[in-house]
Amino acid sequence: MTEPQTKKVALVSSDITINIGDVIIDIHGNRGVVDKICDCDKCKERGFYEPVWIDAYANQEYITESDRSSGFSSYFQIGSHRFPEHVDRGNTLSQINKLEREAAQAARRIENLRMMLEVTDDE
Ligand SMILES: [Zn+2]
Repeated sequence: MTEPQTKKVALVSSDITINIGDVIIDIHGNRGVVDKICDCDKCKERGFYEPVWIDAYANQEYITESDRSSGFSSYFQIGSHRFPEHVDRGNTLSQINKLEREAAQAARRIENLRMMLEVTDDE
């Protein structure tokens, strides 16, 4: 019988372990927390119990065996371990610029939507 919730540690390598509750930050700036450690038969066969983390949008994301074999190249932080070598500064800057443009557009839409509420308020 398997009890995933009681298996709190996924042995990842000799120097990194991943625990339930660990903070995760991927290289796209998404932050979340490890919610559980998968305990399925495939994980057993692979010898890597895939951690599942929940991002800010409540999506479930898996840290997969292929992430592990790539040295977690799409992650900046797993638990207390940081990977500054995974940060492509040019790509990070363009992600910031893109998100700032989207945030500015969203702010304008919010203004317009508020204006629409005000205009229709007295009908
Ligand atoms: Zn699994």
